[in-house]
Amino acid sequence: MAGRPEILWPLFQALTALPGVGPRLAALFGRIGVARPVDLLFTPPHGVVDRRLRPSAKGAGDGETVTVEVEIGVHHPPRDKGKPYRVAVRDAETEFLLVWFHGQPERLRALAPTGARRVVSGRVEIFDGVLQMVHPDHLLSRAEAAALPAFEPVWPATKGLGQKAIAKAVNGALALAPDVPEWLDRAVASPRGWPSWRAAVRVLHAPQGAADLAPEAPARARLAYDELLSHQLTLALARAERRRGKGRASVGDGRLREAVLAALPFAPTGAQRRAVAEIAADMAAPERMNRLLQGDVGSGKTLVALLAMLVAVEAGGQAALMAPTEILARQHAQALAPLAAAAGVRLDVLTGRDKGPARAAKLAALAAGETAILVGTHALFQKDVAFRDLRLAVVDEQHRFGVRQRMELGAKGRAADVLVMTATPIPRTLALASYGDMDVSVLDEKPPGRKPVDTRLVSMARAAQVVERLRAAVAAGGRAYWVCPLVEESDVSELTAAEARFAALRPVFGDGLRLVHGQMPPAEKDAAMADFASGRAQVLVATTVIEVGVDVPEATIMVIERAESFGLAQLHQLRGRVGRGGERSFCLLLHGPLGEAAAARLSALRETEDGFRIAEEDLRLRGPGDLLGAQQSGLPAFRIADIAAQADLMALARDDARLALTRDPGLESPRGAALRLLLWLHGRDDAIRMMKQG
Ligand code: ADP
Ligand code: MG
Repeated sequence: MAGRPEILWPLFQALTALPGVGPRLAALFGRIGVARPVDLLFTPPHGVVDRRLRPSAKGAGDGETVTVEVEIGVHHPPRDKGKPYRVAVRDAETEFLLVWFHGQPERLRALAPTGARRVVSGRVEIFDGVLQMVHPDHLLSRAEAAALPAFEPVWPATKGLGQKAIAKAVNGALALAPDVPEWLDRAVASPRGWPSWRAAVRVLHAPQGAADLAPEAPARARLAYDELLSHQLTLALARAERRRGKGRASVGDGRLREAVLAALPFAPTGAQRRAVAEIAADMAAPERMNRLLQGDVGSGKTLVALLAMLVAVEAGGQAALMAPTEILARQHAQALAPLAAAAGVRLDVLTGRDKGPARAAKLAALAAGETAILVGTHALFQKDVAFRDLRLAVVDEQHRFGVRQRMELGAKGRAADVLVMTATPIPRTLALASYGDMDVSVLDEKPPGRKPVDTRLVSMARAAQVVERLRAAVAAGGRAYWVCPLVEESDVSELTAAEARFAALRPVFGDGLRLVHGQMPPAEKDAAMADFASGRAQVLVATTVIEVGVDVPEATIMVIERAESFGLAQLHQLRGRVGRGGERSFCLLLHGPLGEAAAARLSALRETEDGFRIAEEDLRLRGPGDLLGAQQSGLPAFRIADIAAQADLMALARDDARLALTRDPGLESPRGAALRLLLWLHGRDDAIRMMKQG
C-alpha cells in the first residue's frame, strides 16, 4: 500500500526538526494542537497588530496599538514605592505619557534620554483623562524602527509559548511548504481570485491588516475550501463505498400505506408526502438507502417513519424503529400500534426490560417473520435479536447514537436501508458537515392548527410568582412541566437539583406532583409519566429526559429553570412539548442574572418558533461545537474554515467532491492524484484507505 507521498514528508516530520524548536517548545506546541510542521501551517493567526508609523497618537481609541515618532520630554521617577515611572513625550500633534511599573531608572534614562527622538509602539489608554502608553512594546531609534514589520500576526498562544517563538516556527514550516500540483478546479478557484496553495499559506501567516483575517480574504477562503473539500471528499468516498456495497430493492404496492392513510383523522402534509416519496424511491432502488429525515418537533416524523416501514413490509420484509430511550420507544409503539393494526400489521416493542420467556416469545415471532415492525431501544443491537428479513432500520434522534451504531443496526439485515430521524433542526451548513454522506429529506411544514407558544423570560427572583401562577392554572385543569437546570459536571447534581425542586413544590401540589429523572428505575419513570399523561398528576418535575418526544397534548405550561444554561435548540425542543393541543400554551424561561449575550440568545427564542432559524442563530451565537454538544455532534473540528460564515463554500465543496468522484471514482486522473495529495495533507488517511478497498 503506497503511503504518504514523498513531497509531503518534510511537513510531517517531528516539530523538533524546525529551527529553534526543541523538546520543550514542541511540548508547548502540543498544547495548542500542533504536533508537526503541517499543523503549524494550518494554525492561522487570529489577530494582527498594525505597527504602521502614524503622525500622532491623537485621537487613538482606548486600547488601540499606535506607532509614532516622539521627542522624549521630562522623566518623572515615582515619588512613592508602587507608583509608576513616567516619561512625558510629544509627537507631531499631542503629548502623552510612557509608563513603566517597576521600571529601572538608569535603564530608562539610557533608553529614552530627554530630547532624543524615538519611535514608540504599544497600546494606548486613557487614564484619568490623560493619554498614556503602559510598557511600550517597542522603544527604538529611527534606524531600528525601519526594520519593524508594518503588520504583526498574532497566533493562538499558550502559557510559556510566546508570539516570537511561534513566528519563528511558522517561518520554518513555511520554508518546508512544497510546490504542489493544483487540486482545485479552475472554475472554482479562478473567479474567486484564489492563490495557489503555497502562496495561500504564506499569505495566511502574513496578514496585512484586519481584512486579511476575514473568512472571505482570498488566501483564507482558499485554504478553508481545501479543508472543506477534503472533508467532503471523505464523506463522498464513504457514500460511494456504501453505495457500491450491495443494497436491495424494496418495492411496495402501497396497499398497507393506503390502509393507514384511510384510518388517519387527518391528511398528511405536503412535506410528509414528499418525504415518503423520496424514501420510497430510495428503497425501490438497488443501492442501500442512507437518508436523514429532518423535522422540527411536531412536524410529524413518526407518520413518515411508519409509512416508510410499511414499504418494507409491503415488499415482504420487516422494519425496525430504534429510539434513544425506553420512554420514547414505548411511546412510539403506543402511537403506532393502532395504525399498524389498521393495516393489519403486527408491531411489537422490545427494550432492555423484556426478560425471560416473554422476551424469548418476542424474538421467536421476529425470527419467524410474524412481527413485521419492531420498535425498541439499544436492546435491538443484542446478538440474539434476529430478523427474518430486515429491510429498513429507522433510527430516531440520531445524534444520541453514533454513526457506527447506525450502521450496526443496518447490518442486522442483509444490506438494510437506513433512515435516520432527527428533531434537532440542523442548520444546512452543519447538516452538510456531519451528514454530507447522507441524503436528506426535510419536513419544513407543520401540521395545521398548532398554536404559537407564548414564550416569556422571567427572572429567577420571581419564581414564587411563577409557582402561584402554576397553582392557579392547575386549579383550572391545566398541566405543566417543570424542567430543572442542566448541570454539566455530573448527572448526579442534575438529579439533586430536580429533587430539591420536587421537595419545594410538594407542599403546593401535593399528590398532583411527579418527578422523573434519568437515574430512576424504568418502571417508576414510566409510572410517573403515565400519571402525568392520564392527568392523575398535573405537574411533572423533570430533568432533560423529557426533552425528546414525549407527547402529552393536555400540557400547556413549560417552565424551564436556569434557561440560560441550555442551548437554544434544546430550549426549542423542550418548548415543543407544549402547544400540542387546542389550548393556548406558555413557556416560561426562568433565568438568573443575564449578560447581554445570554439575553440576546433567549430573546431569539421569544421571537420565533422556526426551529431552523433558531438553530442558525444558535450556531451563530455559540459556534458549532456547542450546538449539539461538542462530542455528540460528530462534527469535525475545522482549523481554518468557519462553517457558520462559509455555508456557501461547504455546499460548493460537497458538489465539487461528488462530481469529482463521479468522473473519476478511483482518483486516478491528474486532478484525482492532486486530490489524493490534498487528502494526505489534511490527514484524511481514512479516506485513502477506503478508496484502496474499492
Ligand atoms: P415529531 O416526531 O416530528 O415531533 P410527531 O410525529 O410526534 O412529530 O407528530 C406530532 C403530532 O402531530 C402527533 O400527535 C401526530 O399525530 C400529529 N400529526 C402528524 N402529522 C399530522 C398531519 N399531517 N396533520 C395533523 N396532525 C398530524
Ligand atoms: Mg417524534
